[in-house]
Amino acid sequence: MVELTDVGKEYPGGVVALRGVNLVIGYGEFVGIVGPSGSGKSTMLNLIGTLDRPSSGTVWVEGNDIAALSDRRVSALRAHRIGFVFQQFHLAPGRTALDNVADGLLYEGIPVRERRRRAEAALTRVGLAERLAHLPHELSGGQRQRVAIARAVVGEPVLLLADEPTGNLDTASGQGVMALLRELHAAGTTVVVITHDRDIAASLPRQVAMLDGTVE
Ligand code: ADP
Repeated sequence: MVELTDVGKEYPGGVVALRGVNLVIGYGEFVGIVGPSGSGKSTMLNLIGTLDRPSSGTVWVEGNDIAALSDRRVSALRAHRIGFVFQQFHLAPGRTALDNVADGLLYEGIPVRERRRRAEAALTRVGLAERLAHLPHELSGGQRQRVAIARAVVGEPVLLLADEPTGNLDTASGQGVMALLRELHAAGTTVVVITHDRDIAASLPRQVAMLDGTVE
């Protein structure tokens, strides 16, 4: 599903965020990425998600060398195959839960009624069938993150990338979000999750430990 070969990333200004990273993630894996702040976890997740390009080395996603694809093909790969969840939820404030999730299908060329039908199904899947018309500020943090997960999976991605999805949640809500990721993984989605939480990391089948821009 994902292969990084000797990947380096240097940001403008000279910060070297990744050096010599080699990593293979197979279809159906559930991987935790752990390590101290600044060790390169988000940078690596962004490269896997094709949101950014490496300074050196090669990022392969589903057999595609990302650097060899046009911007249009990279965007299509991302839209159809990859879902994202972030610590800060990133929901549109003035839009209902249903519309926030339906917007996850905007780039698929699907008519609005069908987008809404699929969004309702995704919200039902994450346990929010009773909250379709709620605005983000009318939801708890845990519910907001579940809306964000519904939006990430409404297009049925094969790869779900989550950057500290429990970072802004209390323990119980965080456990609910992790249980949801486990269900999605059990249903066949490959899941990669960055976490600071040692208990969460320890509960995952595989951990990748980062330190100073390298995989330990
Ligand atoms: P982590 O996710 O492990 O906290 P990051 O990947 O966010 O680590 O950051 C790795 C290093 O790259 C840090 O030193 C950070 O300051 C730097 N960095 C991250 N993003 C940028 C950016 N857009 N521009 C410049 N430096 C960045």
